[in-house]
Amino acid sequence: MIIVMKSDVRPDSLEVQQVIKMAERYPGIHAEVRQIEGASRSLTEIYLLGPTTQVPQEPFEEFPAVEKTIRIRERYRSIGRHDGAEAFGFEYNGVRFSQDTFHVFPGLCAVDTRENVELMFKALKAAGIQTTRAGAYKPRTSPYDFQGHGKSCLPYLFELAGKYDQKVIAMEITHESQIDEIRDALRACGNPTGVMIQIGTRNAQNFELLKVAGSQQDFPVLFKRGMGITLDESLNACEYIASAGNNRIIVCLRGMKTNYGDPHRNFVDFAHVPVVRRLTRLPVCIDPSHSVGKKTVAADGLLDIHHVTAQGIIAGANMVLVDFHPRPEEALCDGPQALLLPELAHFLADAAVVRKCYLDRVKQRPAS
Ligand code: PEP
Ligand code: MN
Repeated sequence: MIIVMKSDVRPDSLEVQQVIKMAERYPGIHAEVRQIEGASRSLTEIYLLGPTTQVPQEPFEEFPAVEKTIRIRERYRSIGRHDGAEAFGFEYNGVRFSQDTFHVFPGLCAVDTRENVELMFKALKAAGIQTTRAGAYKPRTSPYDFQGHGKSCLPYLFELAGKYDQKVIAMEITHESQIDEIRDALRACGNPTGVMIQIGTRNAQNFELLKVAGSQQDFPVLFKRGMGITLDESLNACEYIASAGNNRIIVCLRGMKTNYGDPHRNFVDFAHVPVVRRLTRLPVCIDPSHSVGKKTVAADGLLDIHHVTAQGIIAGANMVLVDFHPRPEEALCDGPQALLLPELAHFLADAAVVRKCYLDRVKQRPAS
């Protein structure tokens, strides 16, 4: 059961202590206080853990400081919507993320050279973008392929991010030790930027890595849906992160593996944007680049990547992760799907048109 306190009630208040005291009178019940950054307000929630079916809701609802109580379902205890829990939101390095916000993260699939990073960041700054992606640790199908420059590229990557006002860099980790490498490198250059730790599709069920990402509070986590597992399994993976203590999670849809990967690298699954927003309290990201995997052009002249991006945004996506590269022919990873820097303005304008259209659709929905 979740006991939602009224907006002005602080986690360390007497009111919260009174609720905990009453809850812990029931046998086997343990209360946990969580501060929730909801979409529009900050809330204190008290989670009752243990055999809560025996615990009635009414006595708690009689407290003047209690807004409501919600019975939680077994499924997705920490991240689930249950019966009316508000979506989570959080602010990281000055950027707000929730089911109401929208950000585009254009950037390099993998860091290759300092020069390419600088060209990329310069273009982002010129376009007014402060969120990007850049891989230093790359999980590759073949052990002989470029594996990323690892920690050696972090100093110049972070320094350039600071120079060009990049506030958040989405960066995959493949091993827990890389969290410390990122933290140390950020500190060494004076924390000029922030990092959103990415758990890639190949590690979607690496439970030990999920627990490590969940047990640190320094970085939010971008969790990429497992490409060959069910949505339920992917959301349970997010539950691993949240139950370990970190609920600053964004779920990223990035396509599913299908027979032969034809016509796209992965089967685009952006119809699941509203599904994830309904089942969970988490913001949802789409990755059109790893879904489509190539720059094929549709009959109307728009890239397939643009079409699927629009499909995700019109369905309510809160974030778009998209590959760009100043010289894709030189890219050491995923060059064929990278958009060019001169294509950035059109990509952003197209995304903005669709986002506006989504907001209008929501405004015009019939009252329920
Ligand atoms: C990536 O974003 O660079 C990546 C490898 O993505 P995914 O884990 O979705 O394949
Ligand atoms: Mn890639």
